[in-house]
Amino acid sequence: MENAKFIISLDCELKWGVFDTLNDSYDENLKGTRNAIKEMLELFKKFDMHVSWAVVGFLFNENKSDYEKYKPSIMPTYDDSKLNSYTCKIGMDEQNDNFHYAHDIIKLILSYPNQEIASHSYSHFYCKEDGQNAKQFEADIKSAVNVAKEKFALDLKSFVFPKNEINEDYLNILREYGFTHFRSNPKHWIYKKGQKTNIFGRVLRFIDSFINITGYNSSRAIAVSGLIETTGNRFLRPYKNCIILNKLMIRRIKNEMFTAAKKGEQYHLWWHPHNFGIYTKENLVNLEEIVQYYKILQQKFNMESTCMKKL
Ligand SMILES: [Zn+2]
Repeated sequence: MENAKFIISLDCELKWGVFDTLNDSYDENLKGTRNAIKEMLELFKKFDMHVSWAVVGFLFNENKSDYEKYKPSIMPTYDDSKLNSYTCKIGMDEQNDNFHYAHDIIKLILSYPNQEIASHSYSHFYCKEDGQNAKQFEADIKSAVNVAKEKFALDLKSFVFPKNEINEDYLNILREYGFTHFRSNPKHWIYKKGQKTNIFGRVLRFIDSFINITGYNSSRAIAVSGLIETTGNRFLRPYKNCIILNKLMIRRIKNEMFTAAKKGEQYHLWWHPHNFGIYTKENLVNLEEIVQYYKILQQKFNMESTCMKKL
């Protein structure tokens, strides 16, 4: 039996991941994100955790001239124009606008051991929205690959679809641009469509984070269109200011980790660094409890921590 694997992937996006959904009151989270990332990296180092950071391509830029330089040849034409990230107003450079540039964060992540820089597209591209097409996605991916290569000499290997809107027709484009791995959604209908799930599904998804309604989620990596698919089994929700809910959430994750370890399967946990931007200390306590539990499973079942591209 193959060793069980514990995978963590983080969708690193700052303002690019929330500009169309959350208003400026969320800026408090964004302000705390850099500190949260630093603390997470220290924790990962202490416990020897391998982690994939799926970074939005815009964040690799240092200033407006980079932004202009890496702009794709064609841009998305969503029917709903407020989804278009190219309409966002941005500052001149990282010093003046650290919600839209994060060259510093990538540098920091790369200074820690066993951390993979993965891609979350160039422009936080929504692959299931009406109005966009494969050519536009390809242009987006080209920019993501170029900026990573030219700014950090990185070859991107792993991909996380923004809003978990997975478009299987686009997998061949990822493969052509050198990607080898992508994160998918659990097969249960409340997870399958990512953010495109209806309100009823979202409510069930919320409840399922605390109480078992979809079973213990774990999975095996499989090959799809020449790429390795790894299912993001669970979203680590931000700390809940309620002892009972918080305990239920951590217990649910530990039960799933245990099941995955016992079956020799994978357990893939994901969240956004900005989820830790407020209540940072409390979120880190949650994370440490999960990581310490992983250490027990490592001893008992040889479960391994691994980043996406090593699967
Ligand atoms: Zn995102």
